[in-house]
Amino acid sequence: MWYNDSMVYVDVYIEYNALQLNQTFTYRCQYPVSCGCRVKVPFSSRTLIGYVQSIHSSCDLESVKDVLEVLDTKPILNKELMNLADWMSTYYVSSKMSCLKTMVPPALKPSHKYAKIVTLDWLETTGLAPKTKRQEAFLAANTFPILASELRKQSVSMTRSLLEQKVLKIVKKEKDVAMPFSYASKTMPTLTQEQAQAIQTIQSSQDSIFLLHGVTGSGKTEVFLRLAQDVLQQGKQVLFLVPEIGLTPMMIERVTSRFQERIAIYHSQLNAQEKYNQYCLVRDHKVNIVVGTRSSVFMPFSDLGLILMDEEHDTSYKQDNKPQYHTRDIVLKRSQTHHCKVIFASATPSLDSYAHAIKKKYHLVELKQRVATSMPQISLIDMKSEQTNFGLSQSLISAMQACFTRKEQVILLLNRRGYLPVMRCMDCNATLTCPDCGLALAYHKKDHQLVCHCCGRVFPYQEECPNCHGHNFYQSSMGTEKLEEGLKSLFPQQKIIRMDADTTRKKNAHQKLLKEFEESGDLLLGTQMVAKGLDFSRVNLVGILNADAAFTRMDFSSNEIGYDLLEQASGRSGRFQSGQVLIQTFDPDQFLLQCVVHHSYSQFFRREMQFRHLGFYPPYAYLCTIIYMNKDLQTVMQVAQEAKEFLGDMKVLGPVLISMRQAKQRVRLVVKSKSKAELNQRIWALAKHHQALHTKVYQDINMYPMTLED
Ligand code: ADP
Ligand code: ZN
Repeated sequence: MWYNDSMVYVDVYIEYNALQLNQTFTYRCQYPVSCGCRVKVPFSSRTLIGYVQSIHSSCDLESVKDVLEVLDTKPILNKELMNLADWMSTYYVSSKMSCLKTMVPPALKPSHKYAKIVTLDWLETTGLAPKTKRQEAFLAANTFPILASELRKQSVSMTRSLLEQKVLKIVKKEKDVAMPFSYASKTMPTLTQEQAQAIQTIQSSQDSIFLLHGVTGSGKTEVFLRLAQDVLQQGKQVLFLVPEIGLTPMMIERVTSRFQERIAIYHSQLNAQEKYNQYCLVRDHKVNIVVGTRSSVFMPFSDLGLILMDEEHDTSYKQDNKPQYHTRDIVLKRSQTHHCKVIFASATPSLDSYAHAIKKKYHLVELKQRVATSMPQISLIDMKSEQTNFGLSQSLISAMQACFTRKEQVILLLNRRGYLPVMRCMDCNATLTCPDCGLALAYHKKDHQLVCHCCGRVFPYQEECPNCHGHNFYQSSMGTEKLEEGLKSLFPQQKIIRMDADTTRKKNAHQKLLKEFEESGDLLLGTQMVAKGLDFSRVNLVGILNADAAFTRMDFSSNEIGYDLLEQASGRSGRFQSGQVLIQTFDPDQFLLQCVVHHSYSQFFRREMQFRHLGFYPPYAYLCTIIYMNKDLQTVMQVAQEAKEFLGDMKVLGPVLISMRQAKQRVRLVVKSKSKAELNQRIWALAKHHQALHTKVYQDINMYPMTLED
């Protein structure tokens, strides 16, 4: 360790779970240190690790302890990222430590057990002459630096004596992990007129935030690639964000086959060492392109020229644990610092972004036509008048059969989103809804009651439909696994591939399954995973089962998510020839289903915004959910009730009892406000108040949730 001539004082954020809010501790440091480095410090009777927030030359505290060790020679987080952490902490009402931990790859998190950076011993010559002719010959036969393990293979004793004589020295280097992706370059297609126009608009505009609203198959990715090319030529960096790991292989393939540059890839299935390596590639300016999911928005870019956020409406862009950030917010923040353009793209933009575009806060750019063909023909199958087999209607089965005969492929979506035990009327398709919230009531089997998951009101179970007075309420249920079995017996000759949470757990599983389907599969069956982003040329039929669950209003955002899902799933069909989509429903007249059939995003938008307006939901209101958790129900209810009182005149729904987690009772409040600033201020006050109470009740604040579902 090198010593400093002068002593400095550092303010450190310590990783210590009891510290829930923002506070630094000051230490004296006699080693070279910069802001953003990790240090080991004594804290009460323990040794802990923290991040240096600021450095100063004097300190008026009486007694300060010494930093024991500086762990990093280069800062892990640069100034921009340290500032970003400050902003995130304030904006999301989260501790600074939770933000810092979210931003860095796991290997750089403070706690010891994660520090898994693998280093290798390399040997270098020191300039000292060897003593014997044999040693000289041994040295001459090798090129240095060399991996110590390689040299030892030739002679352990010779290597040891050269090290003892200080002719060679050991240098530790981090292990570099090569990512196994390389693709042949493909020729660039000629742009369609719409694509060329979109690119021209974006490049020549003074605006910096764009919403690219392009129907499925309109060639948004090609627009990205051209814009990126321009930025790369200026020597700047480009970030391609995709919502889910499942979509990374395709984006990586497209990006690598276009740009023969090294790209960094960052997503949840990389191990700690791989993540760390990718992080360093960006930090050390060795790559200009990053393709990745949510967390790649925190890469240590130095000169970002463009951010592309594909499928911007996707809910996986919001992290669901502390600090519950939304990637879109972070993108906007970083683009301000780097003065770069941002493209949010989707065939089904979030209501929020589209509302911004209408208000001209984002520059709206549209692609209304598909590149190669027209939009697929969507038909609704009325399940009330169909014979079914394993939940599949005869119409769908025949259409599938016809596809297989033509050697075409089929995708089947089994929608499980919004699949909660809702009582639905078989005759008129009505669901029971809460008169206060307008949301469907969930059936709680245990106590045979109906509960509103938004405000918590409880209603007695009823057997009669209030709409048609029939007695045919039902609960449907089916899983992908069961469906797969059924399909195998219906289509024994066909190769069926199932993609859901169970079959994609292993590393690179998505990639393997998709490749298998592309090369030799007939039928791809799965959950929402199969609905997004996939671009296969032989898929001309998409079948959607259980479509009605998509439009069951369990939550303020249910219909938005449902619409996205159906529109995106339909978008997988007939991308290169005329395609077909069959949707099974008990309610073909449903307005939102009709919007899907007619590919009418704007009608959907208008209808849904009306509901949001009437119900005072986003984007008309800002929401915050607060969940209290404890073993004891009475305690947790009481704390929640007191919190509600603390919030005084604010609009607060609840407390409502929601599902248990880790054998603990959970109770939720929903806070609504017209003013973002006021909401933030009041929730901060509540957070501090709660901390001061020192109760054992855990409080989890989620600012601006996209859903209330738990
Ligand atoms: P989107 O993301 O809008 O759904 P994609 O970017 O996936 O659409 O494009 C759909 C398909 O069309 C892709 O296979 C892509 O390679 C192809 N494509 C895009 N632009 C062109 C073009 N100008 N000429 C020919 N093919 C194109
Ligand atoms: Zn209610």
